[in-house]
Amino acid sequence: MLSSRHDVGPARCAALAPGLAPGADIVTKDLDPPPDAPSYDYIVLGAGTAGSVLASRLSESGTRSVLVLERGSYLADVVGRIPLLSNARAFQARYATHVRTTPQPGLGGRTSTVQVGRQVGGSSAVNATLYTRGCHADFDSWGIPGYTGSDLEPFFKRSQAHSHELRTERADVYGYEGPWATRDMPQLFGFSKPFVEAAGALGVPTSDYGMSERGMMATGAFFLQTSQTANGSRHHAGMAYLPSNVLKARQNLTLCVESCVEKVQIEGPNDDNKAHKATGVWFSSKGKVYYARSDNVILSSGAIFSPCILQRSGLGSPQVFEPLRIPVKVALPGVGAHFKDHLAVPLHFRGPMRDSCMPMVLPATALPTLIRQAWNYFIHGKGWFTTPGTLETVAYLSTEQIQLMDDGDTGSRLRVQGTDPHKDVPDIEISFEAFWAAEDMPRFHGLGGSHGVMAALVYLVKPRSVGHVHIKAPDPSVLPEVEPNSLQEEDDVRRLVLAIRLAMTLIKHMREQLAYDIGPACVPGWDDSKGGWKDGLAKRGGDEFDFVDPQAIAEKDIVEHIRKWGFGVQHMASTCAMGTDGDAAVEPGSLMVKGVEGLRVCDVSVMPEVLSCHPQAAAIAIAEKLAADIESSE
Ligand SMILES: Cc1cc2nc3c(=O)[nH]c(=O)nc-3n(C[C@H](O)[C@H](O)[C@H](O)COP(=O)(O)OP(=O)(O)OC[C@H]3O[C@@H](n4cnc5c(N)ncnc54)[C@H](O)[C@@H]3O)c2cc1C
Repeated sequence: MLSSRHDVGPARCAALAPGLAPGADIVTKDLDPPPDAPSYDYIVLGAGTAGSVLASRLSESGTRSVLVLERGSYLADVVGRIPLLSNARAFQARYATHVRTTPQPGLGGRTSTVQVGRQVGGSSAVNATLYTRGCHADFDSWGIPGYTGSDLEPFFKRSQAHSHELRTERADVYGYEGPWATRDMPQLFGFSKPFVEAAGALGVPTSDYGMSERGMMATGAFFLQTSQTANGSRHHAGMAYLPSNVLKARQNLTLCVESCVEKVQIEGPNDDNKAHKATGVWFSSKGKVYYARSDNVILSSGAIFSPCILQRSGLGSPQVFEPLRIPVKVALPGVGAHFKDHLAVPLHFRGPMRDSCMPMVLPATALPTLIRQAWNYFIHGKGWFTTPGTLETVAYLSTEQIQLMDDGDTGSRLRVQGTDPHKDVPDIEISFEAFWAAEDMPRFHGLGGSHGVMAALVYLVKPRSVGHVHIKAPDPSVLPEVEPNSLQEEDDVRRLVLAIRLAMTLIKHMREQLAYDIGPACVPGWDDSKGGWKDGLAKRGGDEFDFVDPQAIAEKDIVEHIRKWGFGVQHMASTCAMGTDGDAAVEPGSLMVKGVEGLRVCDVSVMPEVLSCHPQAAAIAIAEKLAADIESSE
């Protein structure tokens, strides 16, 4: 926790609104703000990934007063810097807000948990630290002037301080002077090179850390980059943009932690002003209610909570909040609509124990493994503790380019054809990791001894199914309804089936052609109860763990596997999408909420469509761009 100067206190923060309780009192009534409330040039709601950038950049020149309100704490502890361990904090309620989705018929009626980092740095403080920029064509497909790949590229570079361990600098592609540390993957598990090689053999272009000549990400297979310093410390947006020296030095910047935004004060239209206008923010801290004034409010509370704050402020679909007695200010059907997330389906395998992080949880090996890895981390800045959730390698591709080929007798017949790394928008990601991709760490047949668990994750990164986020009560402590509508579109299931067949073809190639010692543990067609392929599936070779032809696996078995194991991967976006059509909540370019002056949204929720990539770098680039746009317009 920072010194009290950055905690709530009427002197620097806001006037207390006496006698009011957080929740319904504030949200359902049109209250007059306290007359003595302090005023700021800008108020940023949420010091998460995008909010940290905005608070820092807008206060940089010293000419604007900026208040930033964050529901979580300011943490600067050692564990928070260790990438693998701080990623595990995403599962702990102290560091992340967890919202159970509604039961998903597309996932066999299961619910899943949406995680939102709750501390300065937001989700970038608990995420896996993967750094991917997204393809030019992905941004171009939004069709928003100012937000094409070429428009955003300078802001990716502006944010970045990249370090290469083994390669020479490429100033045309990477940024080296920005506040946010990123680096090439510091270590590689034994499966990473065969994975990329097998992807290449199947026709997926391979590239140098996935960066295209034009500076953005290319479609293809590559080793990943991470948001870490050169010595292996997580570098989240709070560390990069709001380090304690910045907070101490800037008298014009006030950070209030453990402060929950209740609603934005919306006034008008009236004789003075023809439009609705944001004039301040109600927030609560430790059971008390505060108010701060501003004509410029920026919502950066993420894809789940930015729409909730708008709905509590009377902005959104009236059917959602009128029944909760929240006065309607502007009807905006796009607020909370168009929820999208990537959906991942794990395929579990048994592979060499040396390439699996399983020893970290086996009673006999846990302690020596942790000591060895801690040594490697603290002395060399390397090893398992630096891995982004043990995921180091990835292949991005488009299902439109997966072709069924006649490959003679190899049995591996799916191929990727005709990829243009600079033009395609991938709809599938396949990654590989050294651990279970299931929270309860099931005991699959074939694990133990010299073989540990590993998993390929097959992600649908351009889902057609659309969900929503709706508040359920005026009280912000009541979590919203998150309805992802996972796999409601048949085409989503079809593309996942195809991608899973391709992923299994790739893994089979690793075993058969590259002699990587990998076998099935929990994949479609494999019957774990008997430790063998289902009846009727003929495998090649005589070993128990040899693969069958992925084309021979029944579609119904693959669909069953998808519904049983699929989960959302915390890349939620688009719930306050910018755009020109009637459903869009936010004006393209200016990021102003439609019909309301002085109120903007700037975080992943403004993305018109979820990107194919891991989104933290894009959240930062979009915030860098808005800060630069404000700077140049004032
Ligand atoms: C477990 C996990 C792993 C991930 N892995 C990766 C990865 O490896 N690479 C990658 O690129 N992306 C990853 N992501 C996604 C990425 O981190 C997010 O998409 C991105 O950080 C979102 O940024 P944001 O600014 O939109 O929101 P956030 O960073 O979530 O910020 C929102 C902030 O608003 C605050 N807030 C919310 N409501 C209120 C309120 N009422 N009052 C005050 N404050 C409030 C929150 O506490 C939070 O700090 C991961 C996400 C998670 C959760």
